[in-house]
Amino acid sequence: MSAHDRPAPAPNPESTRRALRAWELDKAANHFTSDVDLQRVLRHHLGTRAFADAHDDLAAFGAESATEIDALVRENNRDENLPVLRRWDGLGHRTEAVVFHPSYAEIGRRIYRTGVIGRYAEPGHDRIQMAYAYLVGHHGEGGHLCPLACTAGLVKILQARADDELKARLLPGLFHLDRNAPEHFHGAQFLTEIQGGSDVGTNVVTARETPEGWAISGEKWFCSVIDADLYLVTARPAGAPAGTAGLGAFVVPRLRPDGSPNGVYVRRLKYKLGTRSMASGEADFVDALAWPVGAVEGGFKAVVDIVLNTSRLYNAVAACGIMRRAEIEATTYARHRQAFGGPIDRFPLVQRSLRFLARERRLAVAGTFELVALVDRMALGTASADERDVFRLVVNMNKYWTSVRSTAAVHEAIEVLGGNGAIEDFSVLPRLWRDCIVLESWEGTHNVLTMQVLKDLHKFRLHEAYFRHLETLARQPETRARLAADREAFDRVLSLPPDEASLALRDLIDRTMVTWQTACWEAVESAAGASSAAAVAR
Ligand SMILES: Cc1cc2nc3c(=O)[nH]c(=O)nc-3n(C[C@H](O)[C@H](O)[C@H](O)COP(=O)(O)OP(=O)(O)OC[C@H]3O[C@@H](n4cnc5c(N)ncnc54)[C@H](O)[C@@H]3O)c2cc1C
Repeated sequence: MSAHDRPAPAPNPESTRRALRAWELDKAANHFTSDVDLQRVLRHHLGTRAFADAHDDLAAFGAESATEIDALVRENNRDENLPVLRRWDGLGHRTEAVVFHPSYAEIGRRIYRTGVIGRYAEPGHDRIQMAYAYLVGHHGEGGHLCPLACTAGLVKILQARADDELKARLLPGLFHLDRNAPEHFHGAQFLTEIQGGSDVGTNVVTARETPEGWAISGEKWFCSVIDADLYLVTARPAGAPAGTAGLGAFVVPRLRPDGSPNGVYVRRLKYKLGTRSMASGEADFVDALAWPVGAVEGGFKAVVDIVLNTSRLYNAVAACGIMRRAEIEATTYARHRQAFGGPIDRFPLVQRSLRFLARERRLAVAGTFELVALVDRMALGTASADERDVFRLVVNMNKYWTSVRSTAAVHEAIEVLGGNGAIEDFSVLPRLWRDCIVLESWEGTHNVLTMQVLKDLHKFRLHEAYFRHLETLARQPETRARLAADREAFDRVLSLPPDEASLALRDLIDRTMVTWQTACWEAVESAAGASSAAAVAR
């Protein structure tokens, strides 16, 4: 009888603990170098030379992510280490200070020194920036992804619209590589008021021009990164029209230039389902000094085009990172967990779950980084009119789709871990799952994004550019056939009355996002000279 034929010894508590420890040690030691698909996608979009130039730094951060940063984020997310509001100082002054566990600053130090924001000083680096953001996403929101997205959006709107004086005042601090230096700035974006986050046209926060500058007053209901140095705020100047057309975009510094408090009072921190190590609050603005970002007119349009689209892309990248982490957790667990006399990854049904996780993540990464590459082309001025239309359409569909698929993926991974999957300190999965629900909601709910897509389709017929673009990406006959069917479905939806169209579009987005992602992956595969694209077919 060979060793192979001998029945495995029955597990006992000690052997099981050893197996679980082996699981922990078996997880990727480097979140970048272990991710072959990400590297393919990056090589495809960056080219061999630029990919090689970025490789070593990404690999260094990938190692840090899998080890020190992972431990720090776990520590930071313990219930007792979550941020707290310390509103008063010992002498009775209101400080509105948000106090974080020391691990929060250390995570930030490690993330920002990579240049993840600093590189925005020059256009065309989003492919690299987003690769770092994807690695940060292995920790869920991780306390820092929302600030990164907000800061990136703030940088971009300042670069696009602010006058030279405001740029000179704010951009050097935003690009500063030391997250904890006093001269470093990070950003936040406050649109939502209690009347509505989707219906931002109901905003009543006011902007008033005074001899000293603009003053903002009123209440904002969802203020993530309330600890930020610079808040991008939507507000309505006196006499401006109702609705979104009357909203301007302003930067409100947390402190006035002389270091005194700037009339921003934190009511309380939100007691949240997910993204818990990042501080979200409710705030009252009382004549807070503000700088308009360019002309007050058209401010909201710029916020949507630049800031929200940036956040929606970051949201998708975060969802991709989360999916990859869920896959790592489940795949390694299945290798070490024993049931009924052997590892559970020998069961076809567990293999099915693992295939699902790999496929969802691969498709999400391919589809999202195609968009990221479009952002770089737009920033460098080399994007075609079609590519601009494609971005405008897909950034919304992709935000919705990647967020719901990330929730599904983490849920599946939790299932692979069985009961242990539901335990907060056994794995990161419960935290990632809670973060995914937030990813689904902020930056636009499912329905709101669907309605935005419908409006854009009717107004600009963006699907025409979308299908021309997809034809350049799709390689397999089945994908081309799907593409043709999707095109007919879009034309059908646009001929329907509005209510029916919204219902039909919601289902069509689910379908066409698979077509989009599959075509994007086929383009990556085909560029790599491989023919394994069929492996992702559903
Ligand atoms: C943890 C967290 C942090 C946040 N941080 C910030 C922040 O920093 N800054 C900020 O500005 N906001 C922030 N938000 C707010 C977030 O962006 C909004 O909550 C989100 O956009 C949804 O808006 P709402 O809550 O007003 O939902 P509602 O608009 O009230 O939506 C309720 C439901 O109605 C549906 N609905 C609304 N309109 C339509 C329509 N036309 N057709 C069909 N269905 C519709 C929605 O899909 C949803 O299902 C945060 C939210 C969370 C959860």
